[in-house]
Amino acid sequence: MIEKREFYINGKWVAPATPRDCDVIDPSTEDVCAVISLGDKADTDAAVAAAKAAFPAWSATSPAERRALVERILDQYNKRKEDLGRAISLEMGAPIDMSIADQAECLPWHLNNFLKAFDHIEWVRPLGPHAPNDRISMEPIGVVGLITPWNWPMNQVTLKVIPALLAGCTVVMKPSEEAPLSSIVFTEMLHDAGCPAGVFNMVNGDGMGVGSQLSSHQDVEMISFTGSTRAGRAISKAAAETMKRVTLELGGKGANLIFADADEKAVLRGARHCFYNTGQSCNAPTRMLVERSFYDEAVEIAASVANKTAVAPASQSGNHIGPVVNKRQWDQIQGYIQKGIDEGARLVAGGLGLPEGVNKGFFVRPTVFADVKPGMTIEREEIFGPVLSIIPFDTEEEAVRIANDTPYGLTNYVQTQDGERRNRLALRLRSGMVEMNGKSRGAGAPFGGVKASGRAREGGVWGIEEFLEVKAISGWDTAAE
Ligand code: NAD
Repeated sequence: MIEKREFYINGKWVAPATPRDCDVIDPSTEDVCAVISLGDKADTDAAVAAAKAAFPAWSATSPAERRALVERILDQYNKRKEDLGRAISLEMGAPIDMSIADQAECLPWHLNNFLKAFDHIEWVRPLGPHAPNDRISMEPIGVVGLITPWNWPMNQVTLKVIPALLAGCTVVMKPSEEAPLSSIVFTEMLHDAGCPAGVFNMVNGDGMGVGSQLSSHQDVEMISFTGSTRAGRAISKAAAETMKRVTLELGGKGANLIFADADEKAVLRGARHCFYNTGQSCNAPTRMLVERSFYDEAVEIAASVANKTAVAPASQSGNHIGPVVNKRQWDQIQGYIQKGIDEGARLVAGGLGLPEGVNKGFFVRPTVFADVKPGMTIEREEIFGPVLSIIPFDTEEEAVRIANDTPYGLTNYVQTQDGERRNRLALRLRSGMVEMNGKSRGAGAPFGGVKASGRAREGGVWGIEEFLEVKAISGWDTAAE
């Protein structure tokens, strides 16, 4: 069993101020696979103090120095990729092949995209020809607290830590207590990459403890958070007293608008995407809206995708989906499936209970509901499991109305061969992202939402700018430049 009770503060692994063991459960077996510690206020304070002390020197480094650190982290990734993939697979249940190929691989993808954006940042720039003695200076905000979830652990860690470091901020990170192991590997990578002491600190803990201590800490200038809308609200309230910047990346309830003229793989692609990562992605297309003339066929295809989706332990090689992260999520998903049945949706694949032949682990049957009506619980709330809701529509107008009638607004999807319709819909859907005809967003595109999905923008130049303050300067001496 893995024992990793220490925190990383001021360039060293240190014992928690007060021991508080926390078991990490392997969701495939329900066995304890690791023990970590949950930090308390003394640990949080020590980490923030280290970050505060390191800020003046780190914020004064040249862009080239900060770039060089990120390049060394990339070198470390090449040595530790498998360790990272294995840790993610063990802690949150992503199948091992997918964990190494997709989950861990988020790290180099984001790092390279950030470096490209970074090279184009003009740190001190003119306001415009009308004000020749004005300058706009882009400056790091200060000590930042980064709070991350368990579902795409390295994706979210790299989307926060790397731009913060590139911006010149110093960091205290609190990874999810459900998925702390990959963050421990990541921290080892940063240490081995020669990250200066105090620039990056990592304290494990829970939301009520380290999470809320960071959110209300007077020496933390900004919290960047990814997770539930519930915790996002709590963080915003806790941060209000100290006037922190708070950026929130929250849940979603993506609509996938499929018209009768969509390409032949559209339904297959949409259903697979919904079940990918066992449905634990904030941008999952969980509401499939289908034009009525194609509806029955679409329901049949989606049900067959669910029936063919294999479910197996995360340690097993192959192309299956793993368990969901924990018992609480499993119970919640079962509750939603029951609600779908009770509220009159038509269950066409999957359903309640463990998949056939399974008696251990937090496994969920890939489930499809047809005839879901707007307003049903499974249509409104984020389930965070492999459960697809299919809803018929008659007109484009109706499809837009259903898609936009949600508290969330992260990613929507459109499938049609009609280019004019695609462009029209892309602009009418209320979400931070719209992906059409299976084309994923390009390198450096911003990731983020509107409404209850939070209003952060991560990735590319937007992701770096979130960690910067904008200073307006007048009376600049152009002769002294
Ligand atoms: P969560 O919001 O409870 O936890 C996410 C992170 O926030 C963890 O590190 C946790 O310790 C911390 N946290 C929790 N409460 C906090 C508080 N009051 N103050 C400060 N930090 C706090 O999410 P979860 O329990 O891990 O998952 C629950 C739901 O979150 C999911 O069902 C899903 O709806 C949503 N979720 C969304 C995303 C996303 O990428 N948008 C990711 C993960 C989870």
